[in-house]
Amino acid sequence: MSRFWSPLVQSLVPYVPGEQPKDRVFIKLNTNENPHGPSPLALEAIRAATGDGLRLYPDPVAGDLRAAVAAQYGLTPAHVFAGNGSDEVLAHAFNAFFGGGGEVLFADVTYSFYPTYCRLYGLPHRLVPLGADFRCDVGLYRGPCAGIVIANPNAPTGIPLPLAAIEQVLRANPDVVVIVDEAYVDFGADSAVALIPRYDNLLVVHTFSKSRSMAGLRVGLAMGQPHLVEGLVRVKDSFNSYPLGRLALAGALAAWQDRDWFDRTRRQVMADRDAMTAGLQAQGFEVLPSAANFVFARHPQVAAEVVLAGLRDRGILVRHFRQERIRDWLRISVGTTAECGALLAATAGIVAG
Ligand code: PMP
Repeated sequence: MSRFWSPLVQSLVPYVPGEQPKDRVFIKLNTNENPHGPSPLALEAIRAATGDGLRLYPDPVAGDLRAAVAAQYGLTPAHVFAGNGSDEVLAHAFNAFFGGGGEVLFADVTYSFYPTYCRLYGLPHRLVPLGADFRCDVGLYRGPCAGIVIANPNAPTGIPLPLAAIEQVLRANPDVVVIVDEAYVDFGADSAVALIPRYDNLLVVHTFSKSRSMAGLRVGLAMGQPHLVEGLVRVKDSFNSYPLGRLALAGALAAWQDRDWFDRTRRQVMADRDAMTAGLQAQGFEVLPSAANFVFARHPQVAAEVVLAGLRDRGILVRHFRQERIRDWLRISVGTTAECGALLAATAGIVAG
């Protein structure tokens, strides 16, 4: 606390990111990074962009990247917004669209940055409970509200929603923006981007951090009808004209164009996820059905804190959340095949002990 803090800053409850250890080498399965690394073509493009050109400001509208993304989806660049990681894109979207009065709705168990944005922008919110099995009843998303955000697949559960359920939310709430946060969609869920031409209240958010393995580059996207993208641009240009540097723009464009690397690596993640799920289940873990690059698991006999500490002792980091409903659970990111093997060997030892 400082006497110089504004009342708003005093009231903030910042998001706490997963640990990035510096002192010791861990197998890092705690922040849903992708172990396969960026496309070699993206690294080459970043190297090529590293030079005297860095004197100059980058393209403030990320024109080449937006055009490439638009072409892939049969949209126009006016349907695409790019920002400094999807966290920034989400923050701008909350700021741009959720201030119309009433509460912002999102699940009681979902990405914990959403309530943080609400506090930052003074937006009241209401938690919509997931079922006992962590499934989402989309029928609960109706009635007057300021906006809706749904992570699909959800985090940290990994459970996907079918597009018909997303459409049900869009139709039941035509007067507010529905943000679909598809950070993990490339690992097995259906993207709502296909619905954009039909719904003027749909904003789909993507990231390069997961399926393109570029969490360190900080690139995120939003796709929606041009009037929504224009709203985001108004916020962006009132905040930071250049959210993406030249290296990020060059790397993201090349990564986007390298469909082969994208498909090979995400398929590998999905195969390793399914093997990890089966391995954990064989050890007695309950594992939610994941369409993401992580699994959410608990053991009926061994407390999450015990598994967490046992894994840490064995050099493996996973993520534990203290929130009441999920304190028995651990979120485990999918690593390389070898890392997933090490995880299973470690949990086997912990469960046996
Ligand atoms: N949405 C969800 C559901 C996430 O889990 C994350 C990653 N923490 C993000 C958005 C943000 O990712 P990034 O800012 O790296 O694009």
